[in-house]
Amino acid sequence: MAMEFDRKLAVPAEVKEMYPLTGKMRESVEKHNAQIKRIFEGADKRLLLIIGPCSADNEDSVIDYTLRLRKIQDEVAEKIFIVPRIYTNKPRTTGAGYKGMLHQPDPNEKPDMFKGIIATRHMHMRAVEETGFSCADEMLYPENYQYLDDVLAYVAVGARSVEDQQHRLVASGISVPVGMKNPTSGDYSVMMNAINAAQHPHTFIYRGWEVHSEGNVHTHAILRGYTNKHGQSLPNYHYEDLIRLYDEYQKSEYFNHSVIIDTNHANSGKNPFEQPRIISEVLHACRHNEEIGKLVKGFMVESYIEDGNQKIGEGVYGKSITDACLGWEKTEKLIRNIADSL
Ligand code: PEP
Ligand code: MN
Repeated sequence: MAMEFDRKLAVPAEVKEMYPLTGKMRESVEKHNAQIKRIFEGADKRLLLIIGPCSADNEDSVIDYTLRLRKIQDEVAEKIFIVPRIYTNKPRTTGAGYKGMLHQPDPNEKPDMFKGIIATRHMHMRAVEETGFSCADEMLYPENYQYLDDVLAYVAVGARSVEDQQHRLVASGISVPVGMKNPTSGDYSVMMNAINAAQHPHTFIYRGWEVHSEGNVHTHAILRGYTNKHGQSLPNYHYEDLIRLYDEYQKSEYFNHSVIIDTNHANSGKNPFEQPRIISEVLHACRHNEEIGKLVKGFMVESYIEDGNQKIGEGVYGKSITDACLGWEKTEKLIRNIADSL
């Protein structure tokens, strides 16, 4: 093969033995995770906000940001339920560029996968311990999921992975809600087929084992906008898009009909400052039509300490090195405005 097998890595059980959760952390994850499931079941009517930087590139600034979320979560706890976005794996359109903390625990250094495994687990564990939040991450590489399966509250399958069978089968064996994004083309049927596949049991090969999954009834849709054949970003958060998704859900037997609106990416045309407007438009659609109000469970927002983004190496604390984000000041205002409007 045209690749060198450089070193054998510790398997998830070994890494968890090296870095185990304490009883208190496990309890905290259980408590937080039970609430998010109730939101997707419609039993808890609070609005879900999955919010945080595009990529969690630096443990200290990410924990600093997450502590800020903790404070505001306590203020709006009756209306909003927050799950911080701590994304440690980044899909790249051409394969080039920063691939996330798993690959580069230090974005300025070359990849080190073992250090990356430890760094991502360490950061997620710190979030649980210091902020009481279990968080969201993207499952970009299904075989790596078990390194973090005991600390996460929410898993997303990205626009470039949603048509892949292994992602769908592994999602069917995950015990927290999984969001299936629409693909970059915007095709709803790819996303709906992914939801269908993940909601049912399967037998397959995973990490060298024959396994069977139970099916994940909390798998749902995420609308993130799409790109047309001319490479232009187009939104899919409008009333008509939501009605179309509502109709899609009626076509087959799905559990827990739900959607999260991703307010950045192709929905904002990668302009993070559009996110507050998009949220208020969607909330208007929810008030206009009760069925849409039930379908929309919340939003995925790209937010960090500083507005915008920077190139790797510029070194501004708390500023995104991937997609541009809404800064903390605007984020705080946004969360308070949402709570006031509900
Ligand atoms: C992201 O959430 O940062 C991301 C890469 O999303 P998508 O898969 O929708 O492009
Ligand atoms: Mn992003």
